[in-house]
Amino acid sequence: MVVNSKRSRRTPIVLLSVAVAALVAVGLWLALRVGPAPAITLETEWPAVGKSNLVTASFSAPGRGLGVIRLELAQGGRTEVLEEQRFERGLGLPLLGGGTAEAVIEATVGTEAFPWLAEGEVVLRAVAERAAGIMRSPDPVVVEQTLAVRRRPPRLELISSQHYARQGGSGAVVYRVGETAARSGVRAGDVESAGSPLPGGAVGDRFVLYALPWNVGDSSQIRLFAEDDAGNRAEQPFLDLFKPMPPRADTIEVTDAFLERVVPAITSQTPGFDASGSLLDQYLRINGELRRAELNEVAAFSSASEPAFLWSGPFLQMPNTALEANFAQTRTYVYNGRQVDRQTHLGLDLASTARAPVPAPNSGKVVYAGWMSLYGNAVVIDHGYGLLSLCGHLSSVSAAAGDRVAKGDVIGASGSTGLAGGDHLHLEVFLHGQSVDPLEWLDAKWIADNLATKLKVPLG
Ligand SMILES: [Zn+2]
Repeated sequence: MVVNSKRSRRTPIVLLSVAVAALVAVGLWLALRVGPAPAITLETEWPAVGKSNLVTASFSAPGRGLGVIRLELAQGGRTEVLEEQRFERGLGLPLLGGGTAEAVIEATVGTEAFPWLAEGEVVLRAVAERAAGIMRSPDPVVVEQTLAVRRRPPRLELISSQHYARQGGSGAVVYRVGETAARSGVRAGDVESAGSPLPGGAVGDRFVLYALPWNVGDSSQIRLFAEDDAGNRAEQPFLDLFKPMPPRADTIEVTDAFLERVVPAITSQTPGFDASGSLLDQYLRINGELRRAELNEVAAFSSASEPAFLWSGPFLQMPNTALEANFAQTRTYVYNGRQVDRQTHLGLDLASTARAPVPAPNSGKVVYAGWMSLYGNAVVIDHGYGLLSLCGHLSSVSAAAGDRVAKGDVIGASGSTGLAGGDHLHLEVFLHGQSVDPLEWLDAKWIADNLATKLKVPLG
């Protein structure tokens, strides 16, 4: 007992010494460490500053977390703090971390919120203070971005004259933009046709073959525009005459025999298609969702179009054909006496004899040849500068993607594949992804008066 009592008095002293040494070590470590540098990324909605530009600064600091973070705007001698946030740091020890690891500051900068911003350059600065020890206080992390300030939209001058156009039609316009223009062209409603440098023109000279959507009947929605990289936009009207399109209506009788022929043929070749419900339900999904998806696919070909006139002269109508359905015909679909759907037909239906040879409507490059659900077997030809033609419902295809074709080359045979009631050719013309009236493109006088004279290029 006596021996034991001597040992038991000494043990707490040893334990206390060890504890004190450990506390001193941890204290020194906490005092001297400064923690890793926080990471900052700075993103802007526009590459330059105009009226309004959304800036997003993202901060991250795993471990002890963030302390003070800040977003600033500086020009000349003036600095504006857009926002500052303060966080309590954690200890950054295992199980005791607890700091704020990530935070985002969003602010809108531009001449609307900061009218004192002058043309020139502005600096965006994101700052994150680093965790300081007692004896060491490192510099904060600073990420800067220098952006141009643009107070005025790009210069925009109309060069061509006598612009007559129809709803659902096409046209050409020649114009000139200032050096700050990043994009320009024609806007019709929410559809934009992008302009290109005018072949043989001066610096800044542009032209555009533009599309007027069939569903935009208000000419005040049609403007020439030029936009810079700060979102400043100049717009001006340019049409001298706009002809609204007379309404065209049509009724399609949907029969069970038709549904049994077309629906399984389409759904079996469309991976991922929801083939539940009745044939009529599936048909309505084909005519609605699938139709929109297919139009988007063709629009993607438009945006990859070659910047060259690959075509010349009027587009070719398939020989010996009768026009069975017109462009922008509103179709009411009736099943057992009940209206079940309404869609707009956006091409020309041309009927001849069954399996008649189909000529390429004009010269160009085949960008697609094969199965395309609603259009059945189809060939899509790029004619350059955003202009495409599509021949659909073919029974056979004799062209391949990548082929260069001349006007009149046989690309397939007519048929009734896809959503077709009988053997015919569906000819559709797309300009910048928008379906336009093909009849204009079949007309030599329309091309001469509306395109060739304005562009001063020989288009036949
Ligand atoms: Zn058609």
